[in-house]
Amino acid sequence: MVKDIATARNDFPILSQQINGQPLTYLDNAATTQKPRSVIDALTHYYEFDNANIHRGVYTLAERATEQYEQVRQQVADFIHADRDEIVFTRGTTTSLNWIALGFGAQVLQPGDDIIITVMEHHSNLVPWQQVALQTGANLRYVELTADGELDLAQYRQLLSKKTKIVAFTHVSNVLGTINPVQLMTQLAHEVGAYVVVDGAQAVGHFPVDMTSLDCDFYAFSGHKVYGPTGVGVLYGKREWLKKMNPVEFGGEMINLVQREITDFKAAPEKFEAGTMPIAQVIGLGAALTYIQKIGWSTIETQERRVTAAAYQLLKEIPGVEIYGPEMGPHRSALVTFNLKGVHPHDLATVLDTQGVAVRAGHHCAQPLMQTLGVSATTRASFGLYNQLSDVKRLAAAVRAAKEFFQ
Ligand code: PLP
Repeated sequence: MVKDIATARNDFPILSQQINGQPLTYLDNAATTQKPRSVIDALTHYYEFDNANIHRGVYTLAERATEQYEQVRQQVADFIHADRDEIVFTRGTTTSLNWIALGFGAQVLQPGDDIIITVMEHHSNLVPWQQVALQTGANLRYVELTADGELDLAQYRQLLSKKTKIVAFTHVSNVLGTINPVQLMTQLAHEVGAYVVVDGAQAVGHFPVDMTSLDCDFYAFSGHKVYGPTGVGVLYGKREWLKKMNPVEFGGEMINLVQREITDFKAAPEKFEAGTMPIAQVIGLGAALTYIQKIGWSTIETQERRVTAAAYQLLKEIPGVEIYGPEMGPHRSALVTFNLKGVHPHDLATVLDTQGVAVRAGHHCAQPLMQTLGVSATTRASFGLYNQLSDVKRLAAAVRAAKEFFQ
């Protein structure tokens, strides 16, 4: 287990390998993070010793599995300062946001109502609202960007009205790295009586997230982006709204009584968890949150800020590099998205891979944002707690080498 941040990398077995003859420089953490040994061990241990279906059996294994699963629900609640019955397990952020849009949004929206989203949304927090708008006759309104890649809060204030029923936005942009002022935006939305949905996929794992102070109505995040397994996510909802929200999936486990014509559902959170849940993944998520807590927020934040600032600076110094999003400062999270003039991002990422540097290239599931930026694609380097200044130096050297190669 990690002793200090300089050796955190050693806790992640995958990072010790060479790629194309070079040490792996993994800079695609916004897509998915690597898993520490403790998470891998938790999964293996579960399958070796505790595997059973939860909530169903009266035998010891089933009780053990159920207990661990429910303990993680409490752990997640504590992690984001919520109560256990406000935590629903899902398959990931995408599932959480779809369930909120279809199970809650569709219920509260009337023809002519407004849904406000932002131009920096990932498709996961955009397409579901488009669909619900089409279904209900509501209008989709967009908050635009300022010149420095932040949300235009003056325009947001203008959009808000008595017609606004839902405001849905990302906590951190997966392209620009912008950290949005959730508390302020929520307060303004509540003043007009709107519900607030926050996509936390790029926030949780980078800094502490507190439901009591943010006061949003719903919040979503994914296990695999916080050093946990794929296939598990979290949907937080205030108790009173989860009570009102309809399940989107139906089946076993979520019911009290099924009769031929009618079903009585359990209370939240169980009423949303139909069928066999990703039990091992939930337990792995618990191990990931424990790992984060052992390192501590201030250590993680300091390291990520140092690494991101270095990347921002070193990339900025390369002629022909254009960086998107806010200046390096308190409004930028742990990623840098850029373009190298005259080189397609896919070509750049391919050349970087030959140096063992893994970055993402493309539209990052944010096509309306790409249109706003006037580009079809970008290259993104995104950081996790195990990244070091040496990773950033390798990135900058590889970008310089690619520039030589193409120009
Ligand atoms: N929202 C944001 C801001 C993201 O960056 C992502 C993934 O990249 C998602 C939502 C979707 O997450 P998932 O694919 O885990 O459901």
